[in-house]
Amino acid sequence: MPHFPHHYEDILALLPGIRPQQYSRTRNFTTGAVTRLSPFLSRGVISTRMVMLHLAQHHSYIACERLLQELAWRDYYQRVWQSVGHSINADMRRAQERVHTHLLPTALDKAETGIEAIDAAIRELYNTGYMHNHCRMYTASVACHAAQAHWLQPARWMYYHLLDGDWASNALSWQWVAGTFSNKIYLANQENINNYTGSKQTGSFLDTSYQMLPPSAIPESLREVVSFEAQTILPAVAHELQLDQQKPILLYNYYNMDPSWHAGTDANRILLLEPEVFAQYPVSEHCLQFLLRLAENLPGLQVYCGSFDALHTAAKGATIHFKEHPLNTHYSGALEARDWMVPEVQGFHPSFFSYWKKIQGRIRAQFSS
Ligand SMILES: Cc1cc2nc3c(=O)[nH]c(=O)nc-3n(C[C@H](O)[C@H](O)[C@H](O)COP(=O)(O)OP(=O)(O)OC[C@H]3O[C@@H](n4cnc5c(N)ncnc54)[C@H](O)[C@@H]3O)c2cc1C
Repeated sequence: MPHFPHHYEDILALLPGIRPQQYSRTRNFTTGAVTRLSPFLSRGVISTRMVMLHLAQHHSYIACERLLQELAWRDYYQRVWQSVGHSINADMRRAQERVHTHLLPTALDKAETGIEAIDAAIRELYNTGYMHNHCRMYTASVACHAAQAHWLQPARWMYYHLLDGDWASNALSWQWVAGTFSNKIYLANQENINNYTGSKQTGSFLDTSYQMLPPSAIPESLREVVSFEAQTILPAVAHELQLDQQKPILLYNYYNMDPSWHAGTDANRILLLEPEVFAQYPVSEHCLQFLLRLAENLPGLQVYCGSFDALHTAAKGATIHFKEHPLNTHYSGALEARDWMVPEVQGFHPSFFSYWKKIQGRIRAQFSS
């Protein structure tokens, strides 16, 4: 069972534990040497750049290439979100085929798809807030292609529960599986699932050859659907904001919890939780509690639940510093760049590999061997 620390020192102490060669050999297995850094990357506690620079100091490029490529997927999806904004919430390249419902298959919600490894992975998601990448792909494939559900509601359901919820990686990975942001749909049969998860199931609706997938009729276990209605209960904050007008305001939010950002600066530190953002992209109580534990790394941090505009008014002209992010386009003040692996390669690239081609050489240049 993965355990995710919340003290900054304990999070940084995870970096020396990365085993890049084992990672590239075993990452597809649920028992493989994956990093489990995603909750900290998604919450902006650490950055892909920080991980890249750590790897460059301790390993060769060749040993790390696979992991660097995976880290680059996160930056790629964030660049797409930054470029096209809310359009990532609709089918990107082509319409999803064979859509029977726009609701959530109840079997996902109840962890009763009938595929044992997927049901176990959903239970783990509920218990820990984490799901292995391959299980995310299997779950999404069953939802989109066996249950014939449009990807959006199931994606919202998964995002709600993931401690590493990142709407760019989430929505665009679902679209990749659905075939709406890739050249083909992603399918896995029972043999593949058994191989990577260690399950030994036979006789399921996926226990067939790839020619027979996806199943022509929706399996009985996947027919029932439910509307995914979730909300985030934001913390009740009783006290008024205490602002020192002489000091700048450093603004943190669900995607920026970086303790190294302006570390040592004497500032008003505010964690902004906007009800409108969480109404659009709800997260579970577990995710919110994880965020609030990460907030303990930020000295003197005050939590503000309200709109940016209300905060701006309360700030009475003090400069508000914030990091750029697609969910912040309505903020005003001193905009600062996020950390990227390769900051100079920007904009929309139609495919990951067109992006990777441009950044690979610059990443390699960070490594001495
Ligand atoms: C349907 C689906 C939904 C997903 N939703 C999210 C999400 O909400 N938030 C999220 O952070 N990731 C998401 N991913 C991507 C990926 O599954 C996770 O980033 C990864 O499993 C996190 O575990 P890890 O840190 O142990 O990954 P590792 O395998 O150790 O990878 C290291 C890092 O590389 C990046 N990475 C690895 N694989 C991917 C990938 N396929 N796409 C983008 N970045 C990747 C992540 O930053 C990850 O932390 C999703 C993938 C799928 C298929």
